Amino acid sequence: MRGAALILAVVAVGATGAFAVDWQRAGDEAIDKLQAYVRVDTTNPPGNETPAADLLRDWLSREGIEVRLYDPMNDRKRQSLLARLPGRSGRSLVLMSHSDVVPAIKEEWHQPPFDGIVRNESLYGRGTLDTKGLGILQLMTLVLMRRAGVVPNDDVLLLIEPDEEEAGRGMKGMLEHYPDVFGKVRMVLNEGGNGTRGVLQPGQVIFFVQTAEKGAVWVKLTAHGRAGHASVPIEDNAVTTMSRALDRISRYETPLRPSQTVVSLFAALADESSFPNSFVMRHLDSSLVLGLFKSRLTERPLVNSLLRTTISLTGVHGGYKTNVIPAQVDATLDCRIVPGDSPDGLKAELTRVVGDTRVDIELTQTGTPNESPEDPELMKAVRQVTSRHHPGSIVAPLMSSGVTDSAYFRQRGDHAYGFNPFVLTEEEMATMHGIDEHVRLDDLRAAVRMYYEIVAQLEGVGE
Ligand SMILES: [Zn+2]
Repeated sequence: MRGAALILAVVAVGATGAFAVDWQRAGDEAIDKLQAYVRVDTTNPPGNETPAADLLRDWLSREGIEVRLYDPMNDRKRQSLLARLPGRSGRSLVLMSHSDVVPAIKEEWHQPPFDGIVRNESLYGRGTLDTKGLGILQLMTLVLMRRAGVVPNDDVLLLIEPDEEEAGRGMKGMLEHYPDVFGKVRMVLNEGGNGTRGVLQPGQVIFFVQTAEKGAVWVKLTAHGRAGHASVPIEDNAVTTMSRALDRISRYETPLRPSQTVVSLFAALADESSFPNSFVMRHLDSSLVLGLFKSRLTERPLVNSLLRTTISLTGVHGGYKTNVIPAQVDATLDCRIVPGDSPDGLKAELTRVVGDTRVDIELTQTGTPNESPEDPELMKAVRQVTSRHHPGSIVAPLMSSGVTDSAYFRQRGDHAYGFNPFVLTEEEMATMHGIDEHVRLDDLRAAVRMYYEIVAQLEGVGE
């Protein structure tokens, strides 16, 4: 029976065409395409992403894939691209990434940032990791599915956005001006999580699937007082008022409030720790555990930042002469709020903590925290595919402290997840927005296959 079952399986697999892919060739093609994509300089500002969208459109239409450009920012130079591989369900799986990149200072790099040069078995260039590399994995997935002639369950959409790195006006405009092009969204796969090597234990591979983002809230404090000559001290001094306010804020502790994502992140990593840490990590949803182990949980700044809304004092400005008491002193705070907290709630809390009507509190940026519930089918597909390529690796959900365009979909109620199968060390991750951004060629080749296999599994084509 085993033999017969195997033959049936081979026939079934052959019929889907999923195994007809020549992965060596697909990898070569991904490298060529990423080189060409990197060579289109989309530094934002000013962006100028349309030539990049044109390049991708040409590749897609040559494969017979339905594709068109949109104008989400009312700027012909900054268009987005949407391609569609039709499915049967009436729903859509949106694969999205952004075409703009952050600036690169050429003199600081050891390889030119916009030449797409291959050195030391790596492809160098701004955007190779953030997120032109991901865009190529997504594009190759559509292209390979199309060539194999498979029909996915859902419409598989490829969305390439401008302006993610500045203000997200591309994604915002896309949902405002063309809200219907995505149809009924089953799931969005975007940037935000990736494979990591050695971040917890040496050599250990962890794949993070981003399910939540903290909201960045910027606050400006203004303390008012009576101006005067410093030779006659007065009680109503804006400098004194501000220093008292900042002292109160810096001693204030926000409550520990781990989001659903953080609870399951810690649970997923618990096996890697020994008792009692492992016990604590498995029970972060218990207020008793949070209370008992608070100091242990919050001693490492990164872990602390996952567990609560954070407040960093980032600047104080005031005064202009040593012998003058100024009428006003300003200060700035960078706050990152967890899902469940709101910008207005934070403002009310700061007002209470400061407790002084001479200090005005103004929000200068109000990012909204956002979270999608963990998707069992996605986690299963990621787990199965990544464990074939990296036996012994772990898959865990992630809450990031920065924002991506996933926020716009999540605000609409759609489920969005950040995942890129590149496996990066801490140093490699630091090259995003840093110097010498690059992707290792073997990593890119493996990622083309993993991305395809994950989407294929979600879409019921191939295994
Ligand atoms: Zn970025």
